[in-house]
Amino acid sequence: MKNIVVVGTGFSGAVIARKIAEELDLPVKVIEKRRHIAGNMYDEMDENGILVQKYGPHVIVTNRWLVIEYLMQYSEMFKHIVKELSFIDGKYVRLPFNFETVQQLVGERHAENLIAKFRKEYCGRDRVPVLELVNNPDPDISAYGNLLFEKAYRPYCAKQWDVPVDSLDKSIMDRVPMAMSYDERYMNKDFQFLPKYGFTALFNNMLNHPNISISLNDDALNHITLDSDNNKIFFDGEELDLLVYTGALDELFNMKYGELPYRSLNIQYEWFDKEQVYPEKIISFPQADGYTRKTEYKFMMYDNSKAKGSVIATEYPTAYVKGEELAPFYPVITDDTKKRHNMYCEEAKRYKNLFYCGRLADFRYYNMDDCILHAFEVFEEIKNYINKNGKTGGVER
Ligand SMILES: Cc1cc2nc3c(=O)[nH]c(=O)nc-3n(C[C@H](O)[C@H](O)[C@H](O)COP(=O)(O)OP(=O)(O)OC[C@H]3O[C@@H](n4cnc5c(N)ncnc54)[C@H](O)[C@@H]3O)c2cc1C
Repeated sequence: MKNIVVVGTGFSGAVIARKIAEELDLPVKVIEKRRHIAGNMYDEMDENGILVQKYGPHVIVTNRWLVIEYLMQYSEMFKHIVKELSFIDGKYVRLPFNFETVQQLVGERHAENLIAKFRKEYCGRDRVPVLELVNNPDPDISAYGNLLFEKAYRPYCAKQWDVPVDSLDKSIMDRVPMAMSYDERYMNKDFQFLPKYGFTALFNNMLNHPNISISLNDDALNHITLDSDNNKIFFDGEELDLLVYTGALDELFNMKYGELPYRSLNIQYEWFDKEQVYPEKIISFPQADGYTRKTEYKFMMYDNSKAKGSVIATEYPTAYVKGEELAPFYPVITDDTKKRHNMYCEEAKRYKNLFYCGRLADFRYYNMDDCILHAFEVFEEIKNYINKNGKTGGVER
C-alpha cells in the first residue's frame, strides 16, 4: 500500500488522511483543487483583524462529545452557542421559531391559546418540523404552520434552491424545526463549539504529519484515470492501491449518468465603521430581494478585541456551474437526483479500492459532526480492506 491518494482537504478528506498516516503508518498523497486546505470550513483573518469564514458561517454542533474531543487534539476549542434571528414583516424574530416568535407574530392574546395547544399536542417534543404544523388537523396549529411556511420557509427556499419548494426532499424542509419552548439555540445540540484560532489552523494541525504530503491548486481529475474494463484506478499512469475521494461522484465518472446539481452562494462583504451592525450575529432574511442571510463574523471570534469596525457577509444564492469559480455548497436533493446519485454509487462499487465520503460524494446535506463520524466509519472500512489485502495490495473487499 504505497500508492494512496486522498482527494479533498475538508473534514472528510483530512480526517481520513490523518488516520491513514497515523494509525496505519502509511504515506498519503492529499490532492486539493482549491488554493487552500480546510474545504468549506476555510477561514482567514481579514485586513480589519476579523476572522472571516469564506464559505459561510460554520459552528460545530453535536450531541456526540467524542467529536469535540477528537477535534481538541488539533485545536483548543471554545463554547459558542449558535443564535440567529429572522427578519419578517419588518421585525426581528427569533430563529428557530419558538414560543417567543408566536407572541411576536400573532400577538400575546392569540399566542396564549396557541402556545397552550402546542404544549398539549407536542408534549415531550423538543422541536417540530414546520410541515408537521401545516398538516396538523387543528385549524389554529395548521394556520400558524402556514403562516411560518408562507412568510419564511417558502420565500427562503425559493431563493436558496430555485426549484419548486414542493419538489424538495423532506429532509431539507425539516432542517430548522420550530422549538416547542423558549429555547433560543438555533440548533438543539448539546455541544456547540468553535476552534479558538479558527478552522484553518485546526486543519493545518490535522494535516501536519510526516506521512502526509499535500498538493494544492491541483484538480485530482487531471491525474486520475478509471479503467472500467479491469476496474482499476490509475494516478498519473501508475496503478493506485487506494483512492479516497471526497469530491462529487458525477465528476469522477465524467457525468456518465448526468449532472448532480448543487446550489452555490455568492458572498459579498461590507465593512462598517461600527462596533456592531445587527442585533444578532446571524440573521436570516426570507423576504429580502436576492439574499438569504447576513453574518457578522466579529461575534464568532474567540477574541475580537483587536477587530476594527465590523464586517458583514451577505449570502446571495446562485446556481453552481461546474468549472466556474463559485464552489458547490448545497446538493439539490430531489427524487430524481437521488436516483441519479445511486447510479453513481453502483458504478463506484466496481472499484474495490475506491472509498468515497463527504457532503459532495455522498450527495448529502451533512453537518460537520455527521461528516466526521462518517469519515471514522469509512476509515474502519479502509482499515479492514488493508488488513485483508495486506500492505502490498489486493482486490478482496
Ligand atoms: C453555508 C454553509 C454553512 C454551513 N454551516 C454549518 C454549520 O454551522 N455546522 C455544521 O456542522 N455544518 C455546516 N455546514 C456543512 C459543512 O460545510 C459540511 O458538513 C462540510 O463542509 C463537509 O466537509 P467535506 O469534507 O465533506 O466537504 P468539503 O468541505 O466541501 O471538502 C471537499 C473538498 O474536496 C475538494 N475537491 C473536490 N473535488 C476535487 C478534485 N477533483 N480534486 C481535488 N480536490 C477536490 C474541494 O475543493 C473541497 O475542498 C454548512 C454548509 C454550508 C454550505
